[in-house]
Amino acid sequence: MYKTTDTSGNHLLNIIFAPLEFNDNINSYDSIHATINEKLIDEKFVLEKKQIPMNKPLDKNINDEWSKQYWPIVWKGNPMIQDMNELSKTINMSETYAHIDKLVQLSKENEQTCKYENPTIVIFVDPRTNETKSITYDQKTSHNPIKHPVVDAINEISSNELKRRQVEQIHDRNEKNYLCLNYHVYMTHEPCVMCAMALLHSRISRLVYIKPSLKTGGIGKTSGHHEMIHISCELNWKYEAFQYIDEEVFKQIKDIDENINV
Ligand SMILES: [Zn+2]
Repeated sequence: MYKTTDTSGNHLLNIIFAPLEFNDNINSYDSIHATINEKLIDEKFVLEKKQIPMNKPLDKNINDEWSKQYWPIVWKGNPMIQDMNELSKTINMSETYAHIDKLVQLSKENEQTCKYENPTIVIFVDPRTNETKSITYDQKTSHNPIKHPVVDAINEISSNELKRRQVEQIHDRNEKNYLCLNYHVYMTHEPCVMCAMALLHSRISRLVYIKPSLKTGGIGKTSGHHEMIHISCELNWKYEAFQYIDEEVFKQIKDIDENINV
């Protein structure tokens, strides 16, 4: 609530009532009107029906406009920029640069040697130790179209973990239940929906990719069918996902056929 003064000098108390759930059914507003009118019988009480914005204003001009139009709001800066600033404190950029540089270097080498036909490369890193757990190339062929590099990388990490358990004679099935818990994954290209889900099932915490897969990707807001798997509310895990934006880096990563599921 806030207090204002009208042109005759009378003090006015403004109060917002809002339903707990938004409902397009106009009867829900009418029932609120009826309830309040029933409880507060006062001829000086005026009830107005207004629709107000659901989200925070994203710049100061909108903030000032809404302050006049709806309700006084104190501008505290762009919440998205503040969120990004908070997030950036948790990101070790020198490690990110190092892994992106590694992707560029491996891409160039692969282009020179033509060892793998497809240019996609994936690096899995355990950020607690900065240890690289897998470097995997895309080995899909027309005979084996489901050989996606993310899935191959998870298979490799799984085999290594199995060997470790055998060598160390670990029989506790509950130990390290999630294979890639909180790992960071760096990719030359945005993963497909299947691989985005494989990353989710493996419980990674961060994905960084360089080139978007606009037709087949499972992450980007404008990719594929806009699944944005990493933040889907219907799934039981979420991870951060970023596209690494750098024109020089972008130029050094080979394009792929837009129909390929990375
Ligand atoms: Zn894939």
